[in-house]
Amino acid sequence: MPVTLNTSDADFEARFAAMLSAKREDSPDVNDVVSGIIADLRTRGDAVLCELTTKFDRLDLTPDRLRFSAKEITAEVAKVSPEDRAALALASERIRAYHARQMPENVSWTDPEGATLGWRWTPVSAAGLYVPGGQAAYPSSVLMNAIPARVAGVERLVVCVPTPDGVINPLVLLAAQLSGVDEIYRIGGAQAIAALAYGTETIPPVDKITGPGNAYVAAAKRQVFGRVGIDMIAGPSEVLIIAEGEQDPDWLALDLLAQAEHDADAQSILITTDQALGHAVAGAVDRILPTLPRAGIAGASWRDYGTIIIARDLNEAAALSDRIAPEHLELCVDDPEALAGKCRHAGAIFLGPYTPEAVGDYVSGPNHVLPTARSARFSSGLSVMDFLKRTTMARLTPGALAAIGPAATRLAASEGLQAHGASVEARLKALNERKAE
Ligand code: NAD
Repeated sequence: MPVTLNTSDADFEARFAAMLSAKREDSPDVNDVVSGIIADLRTRGDAVLCELTTKFDRLDLTPDRLRFSAKEITAEVAKVSPEDRAALALASERIRAYHARQMPENVSWTDPEGATLGWRWTPVSAAGLYVPGGQAAYPSSVLMNAIPARVAGVERLVVCVPTPDGVINPLVLLAAQLSGVDEIYRIGGAQAIAALAYGTETIPPVDKITGPGNAYVAAAKRQVFGRVGIDMIAGPSEVLIIAEGEQDPDWLALDLLAQAEHDADAQSILITTDQALGHAVAGAVDRILPTLPRAGIAGASWRDYGTIIIARDLNEAAALSDRIAPEHLELCVDDPEALAGKCRHAGAIFLGPYTPEAVGDYVSGPNHVLPTARSARFSSGLSVMDFLKRTTMARLTPGALAAIGPAATRLAASEGLQAHGASVEARLKALNERKAE
């Protein structure tokens, strides 16, 4: 049974606070193992990749077989059915079109003192995308990570995907092909992240690493951060649905279960202003759950973390939503735009009953790599911006330097940085002498 809370109950605040602070992820501490793997890879390179691939993925490789050849990719991709190919192509086009609109403009202006100022955006040169493959490989995640990189103009795009027993999901390779990935390596775990960060004899290093993975991958991403950029460390997925009025309980139950089936640690929450709807949804979940192939996973998530909250009105629902700061927020209400205006903290918002979160996982266009565990309070989902850097630009005329330079020399003196002040003063002196001539 999920937890049911009512904001009118005296103990609501305490129970809501307990829900917010509950730790859902129970990751083993693998830091020591991972730092050992990274250190080993930095000294022995490809040999470590081959050894650990034999050990963990039961696949014997030589360095020349770390990378999928064009022939292998073509052979695997040929196995994809025309229907799956068309669905992936549609997803790919929609994700590309959405992310193309995220490209920011370079900005430049001249201020009254004569300083021309601004900034420009340039892509990272090479990006590495980790595709978890130990248990299930998600082609949609390939599109969601690779397409923004391509749109940003990244020149070299690399995928690492473990292939346990040599088995690869052909749709992953097709997704990589559709997204314009340049190199695909059949390696996984901390050793793949280390190879992307430090490079080996066969794999040149990249500048930015994105993509989800297990505890070893997450720990490795943390440890190589600084040497390379990373996107985020994503935790278990979550959805919050706010519903009122005449919503179909089965639709809402399916949306809650769609999240729950991801992972036993996933969380599905319903906030409703209608107690009868809350009961109806709970009943629908109980009826539908046993029919799902992933009933074990979805059932564990719903039992341990599923929550139904009965709120007095939509304003109260919006305030609770902001405290949860959900990864996914579904608004199944009569005026979803008005309610969205009251919700500030969410990774992605899905408006109205015909926008189930599942459509956002695949084909609506926005990215499905989103901040979890309340980090939507201060961060955003993966975007083109993750693959761009902003460089500031300034050009001063002699007049602009004469106008603002003296303030710089004062501040340099106050900080005790003599050469700083002198570098400005030398120019100001020359300008004054020229003026005097
Ligand atoms: P994975 O690719 O993340 O990890 C497999 C690799 O882990 C192996 O190749 C091996 O190198 C390494 N490994 C395993 N046991 C090890 C050990 N004892 N010592 C050192 N290294 C070891 O695949 P996975 O394990 O299936 O995990 C996938 C994870 O990614 C899951 O947690 C899943 O929930 C998550 N996931 C998230 C998304 C998303 O979009 N958020 C999508 C798919 C998967």
